[in-house]
Amino acid sequence: MSELYPILTVEEALARVLAAFQPLEPERVPVLETLGRVLAEDIYADMDIPPLTNTAMDGYAVRAADTAGASPEHPVRLRIIYDLAAGYTTDVAVTPGTAIRIMTGAPIPPGADAVVQFEDTEQDGDWVNIFKGVSVGKNVRQAGEDVQKGALILPKGTEIRPQEVGMLAALGHKEAWVHRRPRVAILATGDEVIEMDAPWQPGKIRNANSYSNAAQVVRYGGVPVLLGIARDDVTELTAKIRAGLEQGADLFLTSGGVSMGDFDVVKKVLAAEGEMAFWRVRMKPGKPLAFGHIRDVPLLGLPGNPVSAMIAFELFARPAILKMLGKTYWDKPTVEAKLLDEITRKDNRRHFLRVMLEERDGEYFARLTGDQGSGILLSMVKAQGLAIIPENANHLPAGARVQVMMLDWPERCTGIKKQGANEG
Ligand code: AMP
Ligand code: MG
Repeated sequence: MSELYPILTVEEALARVLAAFQPLEPERVPVLETLGRVLAEDIYADMDIPPLTNTAMDGYAVRAADTAGASPEHPVRLRIIYDLAAGYTTDVAVTPGTAIRIMTGAPIPPGADAVVQFEDTEQDGDWVNIFKGVSVGKNVRQAGEDVQKGALILPKGTEIRPQEVGMLAALGHKEAWVHRRPRVAILATGDEVIEMDAPWQPGKIRNANSYSNAAQVVRYGGVPVLLGIARDDVTELTAKIRAGLEQGADLFLTSGGVSMGDFDVVKKVLAAEGEMAFWRVRMKPGKPLAFGHIRDVPLLGLPGNPVSAMIAFELFARPAILKMLGKTYWDKPTVEAKLLDEITRKDNRRHFLRVMLEERDGEYFARLTGDQGSGILLSMVKAQGLAIIPENANHLPAGARVQVMMLDWPERCTGIKKQGANEG
């Protein structure tokens, strides 16, 4: 099997995984549900925004020429002929020597060409004293200054953030076409694995992977479909995978059963029921990672160790989900940091070490979260990022610079410990 399936680099494996996915078909969803999705249609403006030229300030709509030379010592006196609130229009025109009291957002009335803000005025019954001259257009927002009727505002492929949701609403789109969310089937394997509410028995451990992976699916915009646990038995695993496929899946995830042990049945089932593309990646944790297809559905066989399952998901399942959502960018943000620990190893794999970051004088420092075993889930719980140790770096002294792939960015930025120069 080894010769048939050479061990791949992270990049080779990712390229082969990604080649199996395309953006999913569009669906029409309510505007709020477009958040985090990718537009599958071009959105044009059906009208100007703002629709009418209006005032940016509370004040008086005037003819700028009337205010020439106004000062606190020599105010210009104008007669107030109308009061205009936002949301209303008027035919009353500002004529020489008059002004209309006007509230922010209200359309500029006919005849007026500027607005004097309240701060530069004083009302005196039906009259207003203007203390400061304004030029034409002062405090006036032009119709269409934000969005022009007919313009392409949000092109196909736009990732929807809250501001795009607001723009869709402003343009009157109650719904929009976005790429469908991928359904991700999740099946744990292992005779030793039990559900969290099952009574514990010697030799058993609780299923962590299905839940950490399902949470990752949700975080990156997919819909997890939890299929429970399959015993290390080819017949049972085959049946559970078939039943899972019946429920509809764009990506099938298994955990466990992909290394060299006697009961590593995922590879066997993948080879028998479908086709296996590769099953090892030159990385740690996460080396025993299988990928292939079963009945045209891509299947990622994640390793069983809880840290490996999560990191392999981040590196391979996450980009696949993002691509299916229509996204074109899936690199995790990285920062450069100085190692606070010395790293020695000799396996020529790319290591992803769990680290906490500290910031001192604008520089990041990465501290290992403790035991880096691939079964130490607490190393993920404590981590803000994964320090990437390149394949050829078998010894890195403390102080060496490494790239840290941020697990939580930007949400956990505030969690980065800040220290003064003399501390630590
Ligand atoms: P495997 O890849 O099946 O040999 O599993 C490697 C290690 O991960 C073993 O110690 C398993 O008990 C553990 N493991 C496998 N599946 C899970 C799971 N769903 N949750 C927690 N640990 C698991
Ligand atoms: Mg197993």
